[in-house]
Amino acid sequence: MSKELLSRAELVMPGGVNSPVRSFRSVGGTPYFVTRAEGPHIWDSEGNRYIDYVMSYGPAIAGHCPPQIIDAIQQASGNGTSYGAPTLAEIEMAEEISVRVDGVDMVRLVSSGTEATMTAIRLARGVTGRDKIVKFSGHYHGHADSLLAAGGSGVANQGISGSSGVPASAVADTIVTPWNQIPELDKSIAALILEPLPANMGVVPPSENFLKDLRIACEQHGVLLIFDEVITGFRLTMGGASQWYGVQPDLWCFGKVIGGGLPMGAYGGSREIMSHVAPLGDVYQAGTLSGNPIATAAGLAQLKLLNASTYIKLEKTAERLAEGFALVFKDAGIDAVVPRVGPLLSIFFTDQQPSNFDEAQIAAENGVYPEFFHHMLKRGVALAPGPYEALFPSLAHTEEIIDQTIGIARDAAAEMTKR
Ligand SMILES: *Cc1c(COP(=O)(O)O)cnc(C)c1O
Repeated sequence: MSKELLSRAELVMPGGVNSPVRSFRSVGGTPYFVTRAEGPHIWDSEGNRYIDYVMSYGPAIAGHCPPQIIDAIQQASGNGTSYGAPTLAEIEMAEEISVRVDGVDMVRLVSSGTEATMTAIRLARGVTGRDKIVKFSGHYHGHADSLLAAGGSGVANQGISGSSGVPASAVADTIVTPWNQIPELDKSIAALILEPLPANMGVVPPSENFLKDLRIACEQHGVLLIFDEVITGFRLTMGGASQWYGVQPDLWCFGKVIGGGLPMGAYGGSREIMSHVAPLGDVYQAGTLSGNPIATAAGLAQLKLLNASTYIKLEKTAERLAEGFALVFKDAGIDAVVPRVGPLLSIFFTDQQPSNFDEAQIAAENGVYPEFFHHMLKRGVALAPGPYEALFPSLAHTEEIIDQTIGIARDAAAEMTKR
């Protein structure tokens, strides 16, 4: 049945999918077509249930289908779906973000992470009057032209070094530099953008004091520091990566968790910087569906489910999962590292933790991941169909679910080493 759906999908959508990471190109086989999801589980069109670690690649931090979010969506939708005029919920959403993230005085709500990073770059250029931007290889910032150079996530796993269709002129001002090395900056550079905790080339944490050193380097040259917290925001801890690492950027980009599973992104920063955004300032950015009432309702409901104790729980869950995986691989004699920072983790089938994209690529492309992926899927655990993605345990992943997962991983590892 998945095969039939795939053939039908492939006739009308490129690769049968609406986002390349969803295709099974890098692991082989046929994607499952999801019919519903609840808590830590998804069900496919053939009636199979899986323990899900994709979790929509981040948004579903409270688990799938939490009643509080569904209620909020139902209530909001009864009042209309979009107005093109300001609402109270938008104020509440902006306040909620600004209260949680120290340094964010003002935000602009948009409809995706891509819009957030794209506009943060425009804003940085507008504020500084400079053109060049610096990004790290293996960091993914969505699919805006100027940022599609040496990206992680789907850009990495489809084997595309950037993207065709992006003119050389669009990336002419993008400087790509290796992660965990302080880049050379100068006064022609508007911004340095990064994932403060990269999670789109697997999890490859910053080395000790690296973010602090970047902060200093940016200040020396008047370069704006942009944290792309589309994954880490409201996930790593209440205040995201800037709180976790104790380093404040000049601009923040958010997405994923803040939409509660609906399309939503945001960028924000100090009152001074955000005053450059139209209509206050001359950096233009707009959106018909920005601050959409249903998306803001869902996002607000999700943020209200997240507090200090839920973050402790989330981290414990991730720790149990990471330690369980690590032990399974060790016992089976499979070379693997399971990097984890707070509630985020990933798996590299190698004996040494990668510290940059080159090392991550070598580890990710050795052919072991697809094998593990399919052994897990067959037994009812859905990991992302690509070796560069993080695992996203949620508040719905109980100890029992984690232990089930580890038991299944043990069987998978046994089968992998049988030959
Ligand atoms: C997912 C992601 C984006 C893009 O967000 P979309 O909502 O998919 O456009 C940008 N940056 C990071 C770090 C991401 O993980």
